[in-house]
Amino acid sequence: MFMDKSNELLSTLKELFPNAGCELHYRNLFELLIAVSLSAQTTDKRVNQVTSALFSHYPTSKELSKAKEEEIYPYIQSLGLAKTKSKHIIALSKKLEEEFSGQIPSTREKLMSLPGVGRKTANVILSVGFKEPAIAVDTHIARVANRLGLACSTDVLEIEQSLMKQFQEKDWCDVHHLLLFFGRYLCKAQRPECDRCPFVEQCKKS
Ligand code: SF4
Repeated sequence: MFMDKSNELLSTLKELFPNAGCELHYRNLFELLIAVSLSAQTTDKRVNQVTSALFSHYPTSKELSKAKEEEIYPYIQSLGLAKTKSKHIIALSKKLEEEFSGQIPSTREKLMSLPGVGRKTANVILSVGFKEPAIAVDTHIARVANRLGLACSTDVLEIEQSLMKQFQEKDWCDVHHLLLFFGRYLCKAQRPECDRCPFVEQCKKS
C-alpha cells in the first residue's frame, strides 16, 4: 500500500476512533508494565478490575518482589493463567530490583530480558510509557492488518515490519492504538460489523 493510501486509512480510523489510546489503568511505568503483563489472553477491562487492589498492596517492584505466588494468585485469579502470571510478575519485580534499581528500562532489549516480557509487551511499554515509536502487534492488530491488506502473514514480527514500512514512524503509536480499536470494536474476530465499515472495498477477508 502506498504511503498516501496508508495516510488516508489512518485519517479514516482517526475519525472513527478519535479517543483511541491505552485502556489500561496505570499511574506509573511500573503499574503499566504489570498491567500489560497481566493482559495476556484477557481484556483490559478485566485487568482494570483487579489492578487497583493489587497495586494498593504491592505499589512498587520492591514490595512485589518479596511476595509469594500464593499471595498474588487471589488478586489475579479472574484473569486466567493466574499461576504463570503470578510467577512472572514476581520474577520480573525481582529482576527490576536486582538489575535495574527498581526502574523500568527504556530499551526493547532490556525490557525483553524481564521474565514474561515478549516483544509485544516491550513495544507497548516503549510506545505508551516512553512515547517511543513502536507498533505492538496483538491478536486484534494481526487480524485487521491482514483483513485491510496491510500485511499478508500470520507471523507477528512480519506483520509489525510490514506496518512499519507502510506508515511513517511518527504515526506508529497512533497506528497501534487505532488498529487495536478497529479490531476490538468494529472488525471483531467473530461477527465483524462490515455494514458500517468504511474499508469494505479493500477488505481481504474471504
Ligand atoms: S469489511 Fe468487515 S471484515 Fe473487512 S475490514 Fe471491514 S469490518 Fe473487517
